Amino acid sequence: MTHTLLRFQKLCTQLSRKFSLSAATMAPTVHKYDYLVLGAGSGGIASVRRAAEFGVNCAVIERGALGGTCVNVGCVPKKVMFNTAMLSEQLHDHADYGFSTSMEMFDWSVIKKARDAYVKRLNGIYGNNLDKSKVEAIRGEARFIDEKLVEVNGEKYTADHILIAVGGHPTIPNIPGAEHAITSDGFFELENLPKKAVVIGAGYIAVELAGILNALGSETHALIRKDQVLRTFDETVSQLLTQEMVSAGIHLHTQTQVSEIAKESSGLLTLSTSKGVIDNVDCVIYAVGREPNTKYLGLDKTGVAMDSRGHVIVDDYQNTNISGIYAVGDVIGKALLTPVAIAAGRRLSHRLFNNESDLKLSYDNIATVVFSHPLVGTVGLTEAEARAKYGADRIKLYTSVFNPMYHAVTQRKVKALSKLVCLLPDEKVLGIHTMGPGCDEAMQGFAVAVKMGATKKDLDQTVAIHPTSAEELVTLR
Ligand SMILES: Cc1cc2nc3c(=O)[nH]c(=O)nc-3n(C[C@H](O)[C@H](O)[C@H](O)COP(=O)(O)OP(=O)(O)OC[C@H]3O[C@@H](n4cnc5c(N)ncnc54)[C@H](O)[C@@H]3O)c2cc1C
Repeated sequence: MTHTLLRFQKLCTQLSRKFSLSAATMAPTVHKYDYLVLGAGSGGIASVRRAAEFGVNCAVIERGALGGTCVNVGCVPKKVMFNTAMLSEQLHDHADYGFSTSMEMFDWSVIKKARDAYVKRLNGIYGNNLDKSKVEAIRGEARFIDEKLVEVNGEKYTADHILIAVGGHPTIPNIPGAEHAITSDGFFELENLPKKAVVIGAGYIAVELAGILNALGSETHALIRKDQVLRTFDETVSQLLTQEMVSAGIHLHTQTQVSEIAKESSGLLTLSTSKGVIDNVDCVIYAVGREPNTKYLGLDKTGVAMDSRGHVIVDDYQNTNISGIYAVGDVIGKALLTPVAIAAGRRLSHRLFNNESDLKLSYDNIATVVFSHPLVGTVGLTEAEARAKYGADRIKLYTSVFNPMYHAVTQRKVKALSKLVCLLPDEKVLGIHTMGPGCDEAMQGFAVAVKMGATKKDLDQTVAIHPTSAEELVTLR
């Protein structure tokens, strides 16, 4: 009943808006809002709902499923698969702990079905939340046709404030046979666990997908251009994770580039690489980076400036060079993470619609976790970044590579890492880099300490929680 009433009210508002504009100008109808958001992903939804809380007349345009990358083909389904892979690893350890469970019966379709249903539920929740917030959801592909004019399915929309939050999509290199490969998007459509998979790329999405496939029993090959994975992370993390991936059974092909992918009559794929041929492959996954969704957005009609890769250029306050047009999230190409898009989007709404004129997101010390096997958790500067910024003689490192207690009794051994990057003379903690069980959850708290300017002494004065892996960080010498 409430829902019907809400829809009726919305219809009345839409009609009155439509008619007043048409009557006044006798021009084709332009739907006018205070705030128009392009893209109902992490950043767009967070921003538009916060604006609506401030009583602003808002709409959001979405061409796909509500929730964007994170909900549909990113963090959420990825974490479900990570959890599945963790269970599989633990099943292998069960015998060491005295259980007789085996994992011969793993059925991919069970978790795929449950995961899809969960994502669908989330899509519904996002839709309901937009309704509750009285945000109008416009379905279709948005394209600028003038500086402040957007077209969707032939209808025109404008607003005093327009937010570009259209995110990005995975890159597929232009090589012969690339059409036989999939990306992370396609990974979430797989109906079966591939027998033999090749994951191309060294970034966090590549190592996460390779880790999941390997843990679940695929013969997994990881192809990287250089010698180590996660090369933008701290060098100890990069080195150690590369070693651990190999010891977990992943076939790592370093210094390797793919020149062609061919589909054989059997339906299996053959990859020609700079190091030879890899054949009988069920599934090739490209995870070599992401591009912003700006190619068909008509930004040339607005004059909004982009960098050479198509990212929208913004200042510290998410303003583009065109007054009244803003951008947040992956489309700006900076810290491509859901909580970053959300935080930037919300702060923007506070600034525009709640008189908080100085509010902006600080992009420093953003903590992040890689759901690899083992997990990686990190915040702040890497060793290399700290040396470059402050000079090598001002940097002091504390590093411990250890065996977590969980593996004390297992045949499967996985190393853990705790590393502090400190600035002399007072040993301010510039970066914390961890690997191993529990580091994902622990990192959120340590990120607060780094954000508050903690020193090594502050960590030393904190009494450890025993027995945990996180205690290493407050007992390092
Ligand atoms: C495999 C994978 C795993 C990830 N894991 C994590 C993780 O563990 N933690 C984390 O923090 N981040 C993770 N991310 C990153 C995270 O998903 C993104 O940083 C986040 O979704 C960015 O939000 P956004 O609002 O900028 O864009 P998106 O969420 O991508 O939303 C953009 C929306 O705009 C829509 N759109 C695009 N163009 C148009 C148009 N012309 N008209 C209308 N609508 C349009 C799209 O359909 C989309 O819904 C992961 C990403 C991937 C791919």
